Amino acid sequence: MGVIIKIIKKTVDTVVGRVCDVCEQSLYVDVDGQTIEECGELRAKLGFGSKQDGQCYQIDLFESCFMVAFYTLRDKRKTEFMFSDKNDFFDENFGLKLDC
Ligand SMILES: [Zn+2]
Repeated sequence: MGVIIKIIKKTVDTVVGRVCDVCEQSLYVDVDGQTIEECGELRAKLGFGSKQDGQCYQIDLFESCFMVAFYTLRDKRKTEFMFSDKNDFFDENFGLKLDC
């Protein structure tokens, strides 16, 4: 019944033909003559007890579109805890993975 949503921003070697699912911009950028993939991913595998009943989702995102999702979720966290006793609701490192 749990909901797991992962957001992963990663840079990996090229995979041909991958584009952002929102703006359809290529997920490849040229860095010093080398083509690399800059891809954010929004993924969910929702349990059978959820409203989505076992659905899986994956959305590939170019950096700017990934950041739209990121800021939206970070703002939601802020509003979720704005009036609670939890005083660390605004986390500068929200979602940041230091060992990637
Ligand atoms: Zn995009």
